[in-house]
Amino acid sequence: MPDFQELSGKTQEHEFYNNLPEGYAAGKTKYVVVTGSVISGVGKGTFTSCLGNLLKLKHGLNVVPIKLEGYLNCDSGTLNPYRHGEVFVLDDGMECDLDLGTYERMLNTNLTKDSFVTAGRIFKTIIDKERAGKYLGRDVQFIPHVTGEIKGILRGLAMKSDADIVMVEIGGTVGDIENSYYLEAMRELGHEEGRDNVCFINIVYILEPGSLGEQKSKAAQLGLRALMSTGIQPSIVVCRSEHPLKESIREKISIYSNVPVERVIGLFDTKNIYKVPIQLMEMGVDKMIFDILKLKNSSKSHPDFLKWEQLSEKMDRAKSKITIGIGGKYTNVHDSYMSIIKALEHTAPYFGYNVDIKWIETTEICDGKEKGCLKGIDGLIIPGGFGSRGVEGKIDCIRYVRENNIPFLGLCLGFQLAVIEFARNVCGIKDAASTEFNTKTKEPVICILPEQEEVKGLGGTMRLGGYDMKVKKGTSAMRLYGSDMARERFRHRYNVNTKYIGVLEKNGIVFSGMAPEKKIMQILELPQKMHPFFLATQFHAEYTSKPLAPNPLFKGFVEAAINYSKKK
Ligand code: GLN
Repeated sequence: MPDFQELSGKTQEHEFYNNLPEGYAAGKTKYVVVTGSVISGVGKGTFTSCLGNLLKLKHGLNVVPIKLEGYLNCDSGTLNPYRHGEVFVLDDGMECDLDLGTYERMLNTNLTKDSFVTAGRIFKTIIDKERAGKYLGRDVQFIPHVTGEIKGILRGLAMKSDADIVMVEIGGTVGDIENSYYLEAMRELGHEEGRDNVCFINIVYILEPGSLGEQKSKAAQLGLRALMSTGIQPSIVVCRSEHPLKESIREKISIYSNVPVERVIGLFDTKNIYKVPIQLMEMGVDKMIFDILKLKNSSKSHPDFLKWEQLSEKMDRAKSKITIGIGGKYTNVHDSYMSIIKALEHTAPYFGYNVDIKWIETTEICDGKEKGCLKGIDGLIIPGGFGSRGVEGKIDCIRYVRENNIPFLGLCLGFQLAVIEFARNVCGIKDAASTEFNTKTKEPVICILPEQEEVKGLGGTMRLGGYDMKVKKGTSAMRLYGSDMARERFRHRYNVNTKYIGVLEKNGIVFSGMAPEKKIMQILELPQKMHPFFLATQFHAEYTSKPLAPNPLFKGFVEAAINYSKKK
């Protein structure tokens, strides 16, 4: 620790708290910083990942995204999906925002916890350092300590990943208290890295009130003013709108923001977001980035981008549709099931199909005989979940599809409920239950994992992240994976009680996936002679499914649903 009084002026102290990683050289990695104005949900995550897709898949650049979240939670694990959308889990076990899922799918990559930061994590680091005496009598401030910590994280990621471009998405809306210090850190980053090394992109929303029937730019102008008052000058402005952007609006935004009119981009609502990278390319956004960041422009297209273009075409061209029922308790907030929806959406076009989703609110199904809600479906998914609400309705639905040969895919809680349903209705264990819903049940076919018994506290304590799995020869799982080993991502506390495995197997269940060292059942299926496709997984197969590499089990399920639809 230097004695700052002996250093000349403030700059050295500021630099000290920048946490510059050893050997860091400005300019080696470029930064693209994306902020949003006017409304939340303006599409920052989609834009960031689509631009990343274009720069990575078409130009072959090493693009690494990072999301900076404003909330004080240490991660997303304790957030209610009803309020915040799905919790996405990375291979290293990080529980994060659903945007990370969008990045993984659009960039065709697997990310690590280094790509997700919350304010809670930053403040925790700073407070831990303060308690450890690392600030030596200095008062700890937003500038330079908090901003220094943030820049240190970005530069650390740049070095560790050897990225050509780090894409930084700032959570929230410009003007929020929660992200004000992120913006200050980004302003400092721009200043320190140099003008050719950081490109700021602001996304605004152009309102089009029904009563006026025309586009209005005032809210966007105010949003830009708020951004520019932080000292950040955007290089590109993206105008999101319901309809194509009017030229007069583009000009107004250009004059107001000091951004050349060619760099004010219009992106209006589209049904097929897989087309957005292609639209960005057609508008020359990649070229703009190359110019702004003084990167060499490679004109050749990489093969992955060709595959991407073909897939998005297939989606547009697919004439036939299957209907998949999803039964859950958050069915009116579709973001709660984002990765499942996406996995279906990008898998079906491989077979020339698109998917319609029928939401089944299982808290409302109370009568086992009333199955009107399942009419017309070609397959059923029972997704993950916690707590007992809606559980009996889900069990009813599983029984119905099992008895009526409708394809079924159970995910995590859906796997556990398939075991309970089978135990009750096939094995005759009438009281079969999970200790999650009934701690005193006489027949705990699903019980807590032994390693979870002593766990205290809720944050980050489940069995989380990627684990290897043995796949049993001669099963559907083995046929679909094409291998006797697979790796999938988990997020659970409960599992199949080993005491019941014998009776379940005797009655027909095949446990086709298992943890290599422990007796944790990971996949169950019914043999073809009992059901055309009845498969469930203790893991979340949806997390690893990507447009360029759909999860094999989703492929199997979608194919079975297509076959079912043809026979109907
Ligand atoms: N609640 C169940 C468990 O903890 C299932 C979890 C899930 O579906 N993600 O094991």
